[in-house]
Amino acid sequence: MDPSNDSALFAGRTVLVTGGASGIGQATAHAFANRGARVGIIDTADTGDIDEEVSRLKAHGIDAAGTRADIANAQQVAHAIALLSEALGPIDTLVNNAGIWEPNPVPESPLQLFDQHIDVNVKGTFHVTQACLPAMLERGRGVIVNVSSVSGIAGRAGDSAYSTSKAAVGMLTRTLAAELGPKGIRINCIAPGAVATPLTAGLRTPEGESAIAALMATHPSPNGRFFIDPEDMADIILFLCSDASKAIHGAVIPADEGLTAVM
Ligand code: NAD
Repeated sequence: MDPSNDSALFAGRTVLVTGGASGIGQATAHAFANRGARVGIIDTADTGDIDEEVSRLKAHGIDAAGTRADIANAQQVAHAIALLSEALGPIDTLVNNAGIWEPNPVPESPLQLFDQHIDVNVKGTFHVTQACLPAMLERGRGVIVNVSSVSGIAGRAGDSAYSTSKAAVGMLTRTLAAELGPKGIRINCIAPGAVATPLTAGLRTPEGESAIAALMATHPSPNGRFFIDPEDMADIILFLCSDASKAIHGAVIPADEGLTAVM
């Protein structure tokens, strides 16, 4: 089955994508909208950006809504989920995508930066999941996809905060799979390699390009690229939210063109 080809694949489903105003989240929100889902987004982007994004989503002919909220703040999350559920109906499909990345070389890194990664990437994923669960549990069904990173699988110098937080997202996925599977909720996690989004814009510089050219010498990418398109991540997320993947549960799946296979 090719989830990219069915304009009604997610008809009747209500999807929440965190971080839906940019990058992977934006591509995912549009991919869902293009396949008939009602789509809600939460982001810290300013209200204007979210409103514009919601207008673009509605152009697919679906119901869409968005609200500004910091996923690190449990109260803001609860309020946002209540607003979106009122506008779109109970959320049955959740993509925990919002996240931050900032290198933190240990000797000079303030503890605050480490805390920020835990607050957004780990606690944020937990807050949003917790706020969406009552509606899923009430219906005895739901699908969740978390977004980790290859940095949560293999260590990377200068990335202790990000890597630790993303490894925790993988373990959160496994523990929630054990807890929620018997209640009808399916949860998986993707671990993307480098994706061409605003988050990695700093790597797509002349200096970055030469470092990447060196990395490509050992990169087994079958597509001859280092940066993956956000739309490719969206396709994988949609597959994991579709019934075509119903036997996959509690998995942390690298989506990295083979990067971790040779690490
Ligand atoms: P991006 O910066 O383009 O988009 C992230 C979005 O999340 C932004 O719109 C941002 O405003 C939002 N956001 C950030 N903090 C938030 C918060 N506290 N509350 C609500 N919204 C918040 O980044 P992206 O590359 O699309 O990244 C999406 C996810 O993919 C992240 O979890 C990231 O760690 C992960 N990831 C990205 C890459 C990559 O190479 N781009 C690789 C591996 C994993």
